[in-house]
Amino acid sequence: MSEPTTLAPVLSDIWDADRSWTLQTYLAHGGYQGLRAALRQDPATVVATVKDSGLRGRGGAGFPSGMKWGFLPPPDGGPRYLVVNADESEPGTCKDIPLMMASPQHLIEGVAITSYAIGCNHAFIYVRGEVLHVYRRLLRAVEEAYAAGYLGKDVLGSGYDLDVTVHAGAGAYICGEETALLDSLEGLRGQPRLKPPFPAVAGLYARPTVVNNVETIASVPGILRGGAGWFTSMGTEKSAGHGLFSLSGHVTRPGQYEAPLGITLRELLDMAGGVREGHQLKFWTPGGSSTPIFTAEHLDIPLDYESVQKAGSMLGTRALQIFDETTSVVRAVTRWTEFYKHESCGKCTPCREGTFWLAQVLQRLEAGQGTSEDIDLLLDLCDNILGRSFCALGDGATSPITSAIQYFREEFEAGTHTPADVLFPLERSALF
Ligand code: NAD
Ligand code: SF4
Repeated sequence: MSEPTTLAPVLSDIWDADRSWTLQTYLAHGGYQGLRAALRQDPATVVATVKDSGLRGRGGAGFPSGMKWGFLPPPDGGPRYLVVNADESEPGTCKDIPLMMASPQHLIEGVAITSYAIGCNHAFIYVRGEVLHVYRRLLRAVEEAYAAGYLGKDVLGSGYDLDVTVHAGAGAYICGEETALLDSLEGLRGQPRLKPPFPAVAGLYARPTVVNNVETIASVPGILRGGAGWFTSMGTEKSAGHGLFSLSGHVTRPGQYEAPLGITLRELLDMAGGVREGHQLKFWTPGGSSTPIFTAEHLDIPLDYESVQKAGSMLGTRALQIFDETTSVVRAVTRWTEFYKHESCGKCTPCREGTFWLAQVLQRLEAGQGTSEDIDLLLDLCDNILGRSFCALGDGATSPITSAIQYFREEFEAGTHTPADVLFPLERSALF
């Protein structure tokens, strides 16, 4: 199969092509040119190119990817690993699954380039257990890549060997936390490990490991084909490149919109046909349910890491959940909190007990049976979880609550009808 030269791709450029998930289609659109370019260079040059591109982790935290790769200690003769975090589970976050379904070779080429760059001969793709269709598609795509010489012994005659294992998790949100994911991959119960040491130093089987999100790794082939300058020509100075923005909820045409970082929700809504007809925007999440919510006031905030943070939230996974004026903010926040309560791994007390209590207070406010003290109680509980939890799940659970109270306090007050002196006791957890 021939590999014609085309412009460097963005992530979604072949999604509409016939049988976009096949190797044949990927090659017809310039696939694997990035790997060929990488194999002509020494690994350190590939790492330098990714550093120069300014690519930042697309899984939510936005950590500079080239810098993360550069944290690996010098080779000592033992194995080092690449682990792709494909455990996408955050409410509202839905970009990696479409990417893997529509263009799995994009990810596999990124895995091959990254593995070569960091000196890894065995990479893992850890995919969320519930998405069996994605697991099957990845298995088939990996088989095709092996058969065509892009994986396996002597990749494209370069003398470099690479094996790729696709692993399906068992369906726990916490396994998207990188160290819980590594425990799960090792066959243990998935619970976060203490950091440091970071996985770069002691990761899978206590060996140096790079853990990167699907979209991050899938962005690498374009950088190798187009060059660091091509990537930095998009986005902003500190938030370079392009990314997938997932619009869901009360929007005319929900879906994935690929755009340079720094685009605004107003511009994205223009492409998506706006908020559903006859309705107005009430609130939205810039980066999934664990980021503070925004309102219509924030329509023109550039969606890059710095601007979103300056405005009081986080870019996270660019999961833009849109809610119109028919939505009860108390109800939305209660549903998210029930999710965090259910998914808390139970390792640390502030999150295990705190999410349980938060859910109970919110449920009675939603039912209009809250007390006049409940809003302060919620804020106090959040204050005791934020910064005191072992991993980001606990902190993330508090963000929608505190921000929703900040913007829509009156809706929470409307759920407080019971005087505090007849406060009925909260149901107690098994520990108390
Ligand atoms: P983090 O900021 O602690 O770490 C980011 C990455 O940088 C990690 O890979 C970490 O190992 C690495 N790193 C940081 N400092 C390092 C150092 N000194 N040396 C070596 N490596 C270092 O963030 P996190 O806890 O990994 O992730 C939290 C993010 O995950 C949140 O921002 C949230 O948006 C996102 N998230 C995503 C999903 C999803 O479904 N995609 C779900 C929940 C949360
Ligand atoms: Fe587990 Fe929650 Fe503590 Fe994270 S914050 S370790 S999910 S209990």
